Amino acid sequence: MKTRHIRIEEQNTDEELIRQAGDILRSGGLVAFPTETVYGLGGDALNPASSARIYQAKGRPSDNPLIVHIADMEALDAIVRKIPDEARALAEAFWPGPLTMILPKADIVPRETTGGLETVAVRMPAHRTARELIRAAGGYVAAPSANRSGRPSPTLAKYVAQDLDGRIEMIIDGGSVEIGLESTIVDLTSDKPTILRPGYITRQMLERVLSYVEEDSTLMRCDTGQAPKAPGMKYRHYAPAGELTIVDGDREHTVRYINEELARAGQRHKRTAVIAADETVDLYRADIRKSVGSRGHEETVARELYRVLRELDDEEAEVIFAEAFDGDGIGRAVMNRLLKASGYHTVQV
Ligand code: AMP
Ligand code: MG
Repeated sequence: MKTRHIRIEEQNTDEELIRQAGDILRSGGLVAFPTETVYGLGGDALNPASSARIYQAKGRPSDNPLIVHIADMEALDAIVRKIPDEARALAEAFWPGPLTMILPKADIVPRETTGGLETVAVRMPAHRTARELIRAAGGYVAAPSANRSGRPSPTLAKYVAQDLDGRIEMIIDGGSVEIGLESTIVDLTSDKPTILRPGYITRQMLERVLSYVEEDSTLMRCDTGQAPKAPGMKYRHYAPAGELTIVDGDREHTVRYINEELARAGQRHKRTAVIAADETVDLYRADIRKSVGSRGHEETVARELYRVLRELDDEEAEVIFAEAFDGDGIGRAVMNRLLKASGYHTVQV
């Protein structure tokens, strides 16, 4: 299949191109498009054959459910059996935006889209191109991240092309995404609202709207013996080809430990790499040094992380050390993705 590449600026919609992209989705095809979090791989969420094609294009296990993207509140009534008050309150506060809610599904949502579950994940993105595409497609777009399964989510259209060129009908290039990590997922189908995946919308922000929000116990540790509640969280995502270790400790101990380990790996003729903050990156003696931004601005770390992980694969890093990032805000989401990328391989120093 020949993939058509088009460019649409967020602030400057091209109605004719959006109509063409919408027509592809309406006829069962796949279109990758920008959102404020990462690039999504869209298909018609109400068409089981489209969802099957999404799994195939990504090489994704079919028990890993898709998030349904909507552009208007009326669409929520159509795909959710009963909307709890908490969902209305969260939608009021955070939609359109980087929040996904798990809710009981209505019959029109096929099980192919929900990975066989009776619940559906729903998000209303803020990105203008995404919203106009959703409307042009008829209102319901299933869109997981637009990467091959096991690769970092794409933050630029060129990474979508690396993974999916020739496998989908169209890629809409909208430039660099704003946030760089996937949406926060909140489950509203159990006793207490529970965060299944941390993101830009933090627990503190959610608790300003709902008085109490839990966090799934498997998010930051893998030794809990619990099965993760979001089926996708059990797969090792975002794993670089090299062996990644996260080093957590104060600055002096971290720098010393990583440099000793880099020297050891160098003696074994391994190609070494380090992922660090602007403030410390120059202190390391690695073959490849990647800064992901300043510790004072963890939102820049979120935006750069997946690009850096992809570059480390391209540059064939074999032994990789990363500093820990664990602020209260988006730093928690950064750390969750790093932990998953490393297979929860951390060292305390
Ligand atoms: P992605 O679309 O690649 O960002 O991944 C979607 C994530 O949402 C995966 O981790 C899924 O397991 C999770 N998810 C989607 N639908 C549900 C659902 N009905 N219940 C729990 N988790 C879900
Ligand atoms: Mg994904």
